[in-house]
Amino acid sequence: MKAAILRTIPGELTIEDVDIDRPGPREVLIRTKAAGVCHSDHHYLTGAYDTPLPTVMGHESAGVVEAVGELVSYVSPGDHVITSLSVFCGHCSYCLSGRMALCPHTDTIRPPEVTPRLSQDGEVIHQYADVSSFAEQLLVHEHAVVKISPEMPFPQAALIGCAVTTGLGAVFRTAQVRPGETVAVIGCGGVGLNAIQGARIAGAGRIIAIDVVKTKLDLAKNFGATDSIDASADDPVAELLELTSGGVDHAFDAIGLATTPAQAFAMLRAGGTATVIGMVPLGVMVEIPGVDFLAEKRIQGSCMGSNQFRTDAQRFIDFYFDGRLELDSLITDQIGLDKVNEAMEALTTGRVARNVIVFS
Ligand SMILES: [Zn+2]
Ligand SMILES: [Zn+2]
Repeated sequence: MKAAILRTIPGELTIEDVDIDRPGPREVLIRTKAAGVCHSDHHYLTGAYDTPLPTVMGHESAGVVEAVGELVSYVSPGDHVITSLSVFCGHCSYCLSGRMALCPHTDTIRPPEVTPRLSQDGEVIHQYADVSSFAEQLLVHEHAVVKISPEMPFPQAALIGCAVTTGLGAVFRTAQVRPGETVAVIGCGGVGLNAIQGARIAGAGRIIAIDVVKTKLDLAKNFGATDSIDASADDPVAELLELTSGGVDHAFDAIGLATTPAQAFAMLRAGGTATVIGMVPLGVMVEIPGVDFLAEKRIQGSCMGSNQFRTDAQRFIDFYFDGRLELDSLITDQIGLDKVNEAMEALTTGRVARNVIVFS
């Protein structure tokens, strides 16, 4: 099967033939139908984060089950599924307390002594994020999939694998935004727009979108932003404090630069909470003024929206069908696997919400 391989960092992806193994007892083989191109992929491409090479990139996908291992009863061939990189083991302290996104999931991967899931002429091809979505087929642990209704279109379903779960989950599960609370979201890409519509669905009051790209701020209004701040023209913190007469209850950083978590923290009113969703590059320190803790301001991380994806995914699909969750306009373009490098490059321009690779 064809897959997009990363061999050097920094580097470009090359489309190559890759061998995929048969499912082990608790594994699922999937025919990929759609795979979103997420900004996190780009972090690995540039070396901001580490991953063993060579690897098949991509972590946000949906497809059809082709075969299952002998111990799998949750799905059968023909079922439609979304994959998740939050693979859960089901028996560690995190899984048992409902915090599956934090599961170390060391026993849902294949140990190094057995045949790898992906290989090429006998050489290991590493599976990125336990998923490796930029490929015609996927072989994952059964705890990396959620079964979905077959009427859900695949490109929109793929987005639930990362962008939607991360954005909505940060609002619903990590921050637990309550009706009427005020929200600021820094960064209006795939994840930020989902934090914005998560805030709208949660019944937030004022929802303030912040970005440096005007077209994204316009898009943010369609997702539920009540106000916007163009951070290319103004100091976003000063502007927000003036707009809200002193700050918001919740600020979300959907970018993850060295400066944006501190900006989110500075946007809070007393008692507010900043939630950092974006991946701050390895080794980068975040500085915040300690005196603000006296005002009971808090800052926290959010891993994949603190998801319980087997519960969350179908709820999000229900939101999509009843019109509360906007997914169609999140998809900038549907492209072929051969356009994956252009899609990666497009992430750096900040002009797209989501490009989705579709497989025939
Ligand atoms: Zn992602
Ligand atoms: Zn676990």
